[in-house]
Amino acid sequence: MVGGNWKCNGNLAFAKSFPAEVLNTLKFDPKKVDVVVAPTALHLSTVQANTKNNVHVATQNLSLTGDGAYTGEFSVGMIRDMGVTHTLTGHSERRTLYHETDKDVAIKTKLAVDSGMTVLACIGELLEERESGKTKDVNNRQLNAIREQCDDWSNIVIAYEPVWAIGTGKVATPQVAQETHAEIREWLAANVSKEAAATVRILYGGSVSDANAAELIAMEDIDGFLVGGASLKPAFH
Ligand code: PEP
Repeated sequence: MVGGNWKCNGNLAFAKSFPAEVLNTLKFDPKKVDVVVAPTALHLSTVQANTKNNVHVATQNLSLTGDGAYTGEFSVGMIRDMGVTHTLTGHSERRTLYHETDKDVAIKTKLAVDSGMTVLACIGELLEERESGKTKDVNNRQLNAIREQCDDWSNIVIAYEPVWAIGTGKVATPQVAQETHAEIREWLAANVSKEAAATVRILYGGSVSDANAAELIAMEDIDGFLVGGASLKPAFH
């Protein structure tokens, strides 16, 4: 799977031109690779209308609540009603800037999975956590929170995004990424099932670009990417 996270970027013209100029010209076998793009909620319909079927459209977030008096939110029911099949949860910007807790992320993941969506659940450690040897503990804590809510992992994709690598240009080396992905797979085997360990896709995210993608994807436990900045450029190709 390759996902593009537009974050809070783009305008109406871009939501029309990027599908036409980049997404609709991608050459890939949809039986082998899922391509997912997550524009802002405002631009979802435009991207959907301008993108050919083989590219999935995702939300970057969803509400913890259902419909009702929750100003500014949009519910999972509304997302499904719009024909959106994928969503991100737990992006580090949501965790740090909007104070989403591990439990919030897990509940959102459960709401989306229960409504039939495929979820790219983001996890990852801060720089100081990596430097103090806490990477595995942090990832396991975030994964355990999701495990407490979700029994069925068949539609969960894990996006491992070390926070120090997001938007910084400091990509994890293939060896560092592989080591952490292998730990995540071990966690899946021990805490979900052997089947989940074999089938759940683990994406790497953090300053991925056309310059480093090939060496990262060569690693055994890297099953794709979640791309931020480079997903807004023709290089997403
Ligand atoms: C992201 O926002 O998910 C991300 C990985 O960003 P970037 O590729 O810009 O580091």
